[in-house]
Amino acid sequence: MKKYEELKVGVLALQGAFREHRLMLERLGCSVVEVRLPRHLEGLDGMVIPGGESTAIGKLMVEWKLLEPIREMAQGGFPLWGTCAGMIMMARRITERERVMEQHRLGLLDATVVRNAFGRQRESFEADIEVKGFDAPFHAIFIRAPFISEYGPELEVLATVDSNPVFVRQGNLLGSSFHPELTDDVRIHSYFLDMIRSGGM
Ligand code: GLN
Repeated sequence: MKKYEELKVGVLALQGAFREHRLMLERLGCSVVEVRLPRHLEGLDGMVIPGGESTAIGKLMVEWKLLEPIREMAQGGFPLWGTCAGMIMMARRITERERVMEQHRLGLLDATVVRNAFGRQRESFEADIEVKGFDAPFHAIFIRAPFISEYGPELEVLATVDSNPVFVRQGNLLGSSFHPELTDDVRIHSYFLDMIRSGGM
């Protein structure tokens, strides 16, 4: 198994909280590539799509010709993790206030992701959540966060808030509603790196 130091991980750097992911991954020892162009995808072991604004990220991914190649790589088993807007980008179906959203997406996770799902009162909040396989709760930061409303049998739910999935895995794909890159806790980043090391399985 590769060491963290041997991993080359991409962070999509078009919009949103990509610097924070970069710092976290570097802290764990990997080399990090900020992905802005298709050629930056070469030789990556895995990639993170950060939080931000999913409509903007989607438009920029089309403009910079990144949507198709990333979709193809992920369909071929390339490990991909989306946080918040990144998870929205990975979904097959996107809704907001009962409306189906026709924004650009990768369409990989067999799930319906609801944008801004926690409503006005709980627009941004923090919560200690139980994560499958972790021996202590994870302090999760939610910012205009989505959750998953419906999903297929291939999706494994790793954490929920009020029984709504907020951390999920589907083979080589990982999605989280919250922002582990804004905390000091490296466990979710480690989880993703371990997923890469074990071949996305
Ligand atoms: N609400 C944003 C969206 O719909 C996501 C927010 C975030 O990434 N923190 O894209």
